Amino acid sequence: MVGSKEAYQLHAFFFPLMAHGHLIPAIAMARLFSSRGFKVTIITTPLNARLFSHTIDGDKQLGLDISFQLIQFPSEEAGLPQGCENASSIHNFSDVAPKFFKALDLLQQPFENLLQEHLPDFVVADMFFPWVTDVAAKFGIPRLIFHGTGFFSLCVSDSLIRYNPHGNIKSETERFVLPGLPDQIELMRSQLPDLQKIPSELGKLFERVGESEGRSYGVLVNSFYELEPGYVDHYRKIMGRKAWHIGPVSLRNRDITDKEQRHGCLSWLDSKKPNSVLYVCFGSMAPFTAQQLLEIAMGLEASGQPFIWVLRLKGEEAEQRSRMPDGFEERIEGRGLIIRDWAPQVLILDHPAVGGFMTHCGWNSTMESVSAGVAKITWPMFAEQFHNEKLVTQVLKVGVSVGAQDYQEVVGEKRVVKREDIKKVVQQLMVGGEEAEQLRSRARELKEMARTVFEEGGSSYADLTALIEEMRLHPRPRV
Ligand code: UDP
Repeated sequence: MVGSKEAYQLHAFFFPLMAHGHLIPAIAMARLFSSRGFKVTIITTPLNARLFSHTIDGDKQLGLDISFQLIQFPSEEAGLPQGCENASSIHNFSDVAPKFFKALDLLQQPFENLLQEHLPDFVVADMFFPWVTDVAAKFGIPRLIFHGTGFFSLCVSDSLIRYNPHGNIKSETERFVLPGLPDQIELMRSQLPDLQKIPSELGKLFERVGESEGRSYGVLVNSFYELEPGYVDHYRKIMGRKAWHIGPVSLRNRDITDKEQRHGCLSWLDSKKPNSVLYVCFGSMAPFTAQQLLEIAMGLEASGQPFIWVLRLKGEEAEQRSRMPDGFEERIEGRGLIIRDWAPQVLILDHPAVGGFMTHCGWNSTMESVSAGVAKITWPMFAEQFHNEKLVTQVLKVGVSVGAQDYQEVVGEKRVVKREDIKKVVQQLMVGGEEAEQLRSRARELKEMARTVFEEGGSSYADLTALIEEMRLHPRPRV
């Protein structure tokens, strides 16, 4: 057929936020599209491209049509230090956030120039680039949004905005119910970010994000239907948004480097009994005080359980804050391993010796541990992590909470979680008993479900196919 897209290779632009927790899944998604025959161009800055160049070069050698298109990050124009082009490298993020978000806005013109030059068939851009919807519309190009989180959290955020259930509550620690959701979910004001309580510049950015989402073509989600069916349906039918679940992307599209495969922690794990080790990692940001780190160290030691603890801090006094008390490392030798660099998390979670995961409930960590069938101890800190904790502990019932109550984006004076509570919850999950066994058995069930979704006819495979078909039928972009 003349003019048909059948014989034509569709071209997708991916434009991820420059932060590990968004880049990792967005690039995995980009690779997923390229493995289904798309030409894929990932727009990012030189330092961020370098983090993934090994993986993308490997894909190219296999014959996939995937490449980076580099743009400069306007660090200096936005008042950021030179070389600062990734949110995960920023200490005390909320202080620096206005400058970082200003830099993101300054990318509009270079991005528009690229769109005009390449005229891709569609764009997948991070939520933090709300202006992409309008820029893409100028050329008739559909814009899809990637939030970096799951359906449950998107539904919780909508309930907070729509019903403002915390509006009339004075106490920070009184629980309130989130109206309109499939389950009875409660939060406290202390678990909400300031932008949800007082007007702020960041709050205005989130309003722009919400508004652009409403006008965009739809949403791509790193999740699968069977994980949160009530919330996928709520998002589509009650909130009326178009969305495709195409995860867990870590399972389908792994980019494991030789360095990760050779990491010493893996042979250390080989020497441990099945399900005996607790893996402790709080993502790429982890804003802990020295006092809180001491409590974690003492709690892990007192628990008597084997553990791997990723203790990689950044910013002022990072080295000092992460210094352990005298004699600690000798006392835990053989039983506990501290990793001070980037840990091969997906490989660790998949190792048979790992029987639990103490996590900050970042969405990628949540999905990776769901795919690995590992039960969790939840310790949320900021962003939508308190939402994800509720999904894990109350809806999926594959985790127990450490009891963190305060939203905490910067290293500051928040309530400390005490060593006794840490010891107790670690023993509750790792030493076992009936409750721990139930958590583990449900975690294993989710893993089994996750393993089927990319088979032909599986839910994520089918949703991706449906999206591809829809994009084929969409009219070509125009100049
Ligand atoms: N990660 C890793 N090694 C580390 C720390 C983090 O591989 O030492 C990866 C982790 O597997 C996940 C991502 O970094 O894919 C962190 O994303 P998440 O959404 O869990 O948390 P964030 O860093 O955004 O707070």
